[in-house]
Formats: sequence, C-alpha cells, structure tokens
Amino acid sequence: MDYGIEAGRKLEEACGVCGGYAADQPLAFLTCFALYALQHRGQESAGIAAGPGEGRKLWVKRGMGLVSDVFPETADLKGILGRLAVGHVRYSYGEGGKNPENSQPLRLRYRHGELAIAHNGNILNSRELREELEAQGAIFQTDTDSELLAHMVARQGSSSLEDALLEVVPRLKGAFAFVLTDGHKVIGLRDGYGIRPLSLASLDGDGYFLASETCAFDTIGASFIRDLEPGEMVVLDEAGMHSRKVIENTCSRLCMFEYIYFARPDSNLQGKNVHLVRRELGRQLAREHPADADIVSGVPDSSIAAASGFAEEAGLPYEMGLVKNRYIGRTFIKPTQKMREEGVDIKLNPVKKIVEGKRVVLIDDSIVRGTTSVKLIKIMRRAGASEVHLRIASPPVIGSCYYGIDIPDPGELIAYNNRPAEIPELIGADSVGYLGMERTIEAVSLSPGELCRACFTGDYPVL
Ligand code: SF4
Repeated sequence: MDYGIEAGRKLEEACGVCGGYAADQPLAFLTCFALYALQHRGQESAGIAAGPGEGRKLWVKRGMGLVSDVFPETADLKGILGRLAVGHVRYSYGEGGKNPENSQPLRLRYRHGELAIAHNGNILNSRELREELEAQGAIFQTDTDSELLAHMVARQGSSSLEDALLEVVPRLKGAFAFVLTDGHKVIGLRDGYGIRPLSLASLDGDGYFLASETCAFDTIGASFIRDLEPGEMVVLDEAGMHSRKVIENTCSRLCMFEYIYFARPDSNLQGKNVHLVRRELGRQLAREHPADADIVSGVPDSSIAAASGFAEEAGLPYEMGLVKNRYIGRTFIKPTQKMREEGVDIKLNPVKKIVEGKRVVLIDDSIVRGTTSVKLIKIMRRAGASEVHLRIASPPVIGSCYYGIDIPDPGELIAYNNRPAEIPELIGADSVGYLGMERTIEAVSLSPGELCRACFTGDYPVL
C-alpha cells in the first residue's frame, strides 16, 4: 500500500462557477475574489471572461494553477471594462482534465457573436450528443461539457441566447450548474435535480451575482437572495434579473456530500449552514457510536466541526491531535520510502504531547478507498496514541458518483468490498463507526427526498 502523497488525497470536487452583471462595479475584479472563495472546489485551473470591452469583445484570461497563479496582479483586473464577468475554478480528473485547453471559461465565436461558458458537474449523455454534433460537422477543440453546450447553442440558429438555451438545455442529462455569457447578459442554469449548487446575490442594489457557494458572496460584499431552483435559468442583464424554467418536472436532489465534505463551512446550502450541519453530524455520531476514550480529534479541515460536535455530545475534551500544513504545493517532493513506511506525512503532523498515551477518538468526514484512514491511524499510533477509535461522520460510500465528483469505481471502495466488521482490522483501528443514513439526514435536516445520496445508497436520481 502506498502511503505517499496520494494517500492524503480524498474526494475531489469538480469545479466552482460564478459570474455577475452590474452597471457600475469592477466585475472582473470581484469575480477574481469570488474565485478565491471558491478555490477549494478546484485547484487545477482558473479563469475569467469579462467585458465586453473595445469592439464589443470579451476579455478572457485562463490558465493552469491556482487563482493566485493565473491572476497574480489582482488590482489590474479593475482596469477590465465591461458590465459582466464569468469565472471558473477547475478540478480535473482523468487525463483530459490535465489539458490546458480544458480550462474555463471556454470562449467560442459563432454567427451571433461570442459565448463564454463555465460549468460545474457532469453531462451523462455528452458522448451521444457529441457524436450527433460531429455527424453534423462540428469540430470539438476540448473535452468539456461547456463546449458541448456552446455547439448546441450555435446550431440553434436563434440570435437570442435565452431562446437557444430553452431548446437545448432540456436535452442535457445529468448534473450541471452553468454560468455563461454572450457579452450582453449573464445566465445561470441549474439541472432539473439541482444536484450541483448555484445561488444568487445582489450587488449593492446595482446588479446581481451568481456563485456555486454563498461564501463567494461574503467575500465580495454581495447579499444572498436565494438558491436557484432545479431546472431554473436566471438571466442577469440591463433590465435586472429575470427567471425562467428551462426544465419541466423537476425535483430537488442536492448532493449530500456538499454538506459532509465539499462545501466551505461558511457557506449555506438550502438555508443550512455547512459548519452547523457538520457539528450536528458529529453530535449524532457520538450518540450512535460512543467510544471509551480520553480525547477527541478531527482530521483537518473538513472534520473539525464534526469532531467538536462529537466531543461536546460525548463530554470528552476536544484536542488538536493533528495539524495540517496548508502551504504544501502540488509539486512537492514525495517522502522517502522509509518515511512512508513509518507513516510520515508532510501534510498532516500529529501533536505528540497531546496524543501520547491517550485513547483517541479520531473523527473523519468519510472513508473512500481507506488508504487515507490507514495513514491517519498509523500517524496517531506513531505519535504514541494507546488506542485509536475512528468515527466517520457519514454513511459508508458504496458507489461511484456520475455527477461530477471524483469517487472511484466500487471495486476501489473499502465499504463496497468489505463487511463493516472487517474494516477496523483492514485499516488498523481499534474500532470504526460510521454514522447511519437516518441520523445523517437528521443532521442535515432536509427530507431524504431533497438530497442526492446515491454514492451511499446506490439509488441514482438520473442515469
Ligand atoms: Fe454527491 Fe454522492 Fe450524489 Fe455524487 S452520488 S452527487 S457525491 S451524493
């Protein structure tokens, strides 16, 4: 088993999108700050399309790396003219994702002008739609679903972007949150199940802004208005904001993993604050799987809230047993084989004085392959923990995600391949307890029908 840097890799979110329209705001500049707030949703590439500037053309800059790599001089963005902007941060999985061509927003020219598109999610019938378009002569430059939408719009013949979208969006199957522009307006779109989040805010009464998560609004001083409805298209232009339903027969199935792991704790989803939900997950976990222990510690960062909830409910002290180094880049040197074997990790370090001789309850938000858990337990034991009881603030992951989250095939999932009783020995823990589905839903406090839980249940809303 490899305990190297990849062992620290967990689920990855696939992209953050944002964008807005305002008469008198530095939109490119604000969009850059919104992207900083959404950085946790993707670190592979970043980009902004803004304008229109001279010649009614969109200004586009995108590139590989963090927002700070692509936009090192943020203040320069104040000089980008125009009333609108669209932004994107990308997490890529698969080889295609490493291609700089796939960074977004994607800009394409067609007979009615320009389009810049940012996308979060996964279109399930993209292959079929691509083949259909290729048979009609379309030539694709990228592997992205953004380009697919652009070709579909271009073939509609309508000069109205809204009308073209009304025709083509119902043909898309899967999970998507798009933010796009034709240089005249910014449009936000959410799939018919609302699997990926997208919210709307006001910019000081002088325009509107859309973002994958509400934490982006706080960063730019925008005031949250509401989440987009499943199947809704919101149009931001000089007339203000208006909304249309693009997909009929919709229902809400927001990704439950957004609450458990992906979203930032200061974001609110469906009116629920992510940090508070995670703390409640921890409380529920303490009720369901108490442990005879001395201290409770959380795996930074996403499990800290659940760990504090567990400690509070269990009446045990919460201690910082693990510290995360936030400044490790993506190109650091792997530890030596010896260091790996000894469980040394350069991203997570135990606080020995806290852990030594203690029976530790270690809280993690989820287990996917189990490689991270093996490493964590090894780290705690190496630091002198006398017992390590792993508690997981979500149910066992037993299925892949087809909606834009990088969950591996079931064959690689520890909970799919092994009985619960086998897992403690496999990962080296004294005991393991997962939060059951019922209590998870109680903590999220939405009805089970309002959430996508497919990777936990195998019940996929759309395939
Ligand atoms: Fe989220 Fe899992 Fe549904 Fe994917 S399958 S959208 S990760 S709950």
